[in-house]
Amino acid sequence: MSTRRPLIAGNWKMNGVGADALTLAQGIAAKRKAEPNVPADLLICPPFTLIAEIAKAVAGSGVAVGGQDCHAKVSGAHTGDISAVMLKDAGAAYVIVGHSERRADHGETDAVVKAKAAAVHAAGLVAIICIGETLAQRDAGQTIEVNRSQLLGSLPDGADAANTVIAYEPVWAIGTGRVATPEQAQEVHAAIRAELTTRLGAAVSSKLRILYGGSMKPDNAKVLLALPDVDGGLIGGASLKADDFWACAKASE
Ligand code: PEP
Repeated sequence: MSTRRPLIAGNWKMNGVGADALTLAQGIAAKRKAEPNVPADLLICPPFTLIAEIAKAVAGSGVAVGGQDCHAKVSGAHTGDISAVMLKDAGAAYVIVGHSERRADHGETDAVVKAKAAAVHAAGLVAIICIGETLAQRDAGQTIEVNRSQLLGSLPDGADAANTVIAYEPVWAIGTGRVATPEQAQEVHAAIRAELTTRLGAAVSSKLRILYGGSMKPDNAKVLLALPDVDGGLIGGASLKADDFWACAKASE
């Protein structure tokens, strides 16, 4: 367990409509309110369509709301896109950028992710920058190099512990039920922190949170969150049930 306060972040992906989504958010907020001393920050990242409504519904509960992506520009002729400023206006405090599903489905390169993260910072929000290797890259012994290269390519100038969170998400563990072993997770997290130290200095890197993401669930969260360089989780599937999401937060105790 590190001295950094864990962040338990739920990535709802393209899930959530109407009353059910509101009930889920309110359920998480109610648990947070009932047990304010659980030592973790809580964040939920619903689809764009729900951010404003959910931000209002959870206001004052201690649960923050974030977006799952943004455009690198503030405004303009970008049909269908959403800017970080718009997310802030809707009540978001964080924005996930560079999720492997965006990198794969939308061809987002490190340079694109870096520009998006810079836009998040410019809007005064916290960027959660996702990196992670594929199974083929791991099998080829490229895990550390791939993560190092994605990190350096995606991290904008001006990144610090207050405006940036890194999420290490091995692609082979996302939504597959396959979770990194504690040894695998700690090895990559330590390498990321070492790289952050080189790039940003020890004072910043010792405070900057590095989340693990990839099939985190109530039954594996405690072991993962206890690792020295794991400072929380980015949780997909298990964030869609209030009980499971809260159990992951409780695992930080
Ligand atoms: C994710 O979407 O970032 C994720 C880690 O998903 P899951 O927890 O479902 O593997």
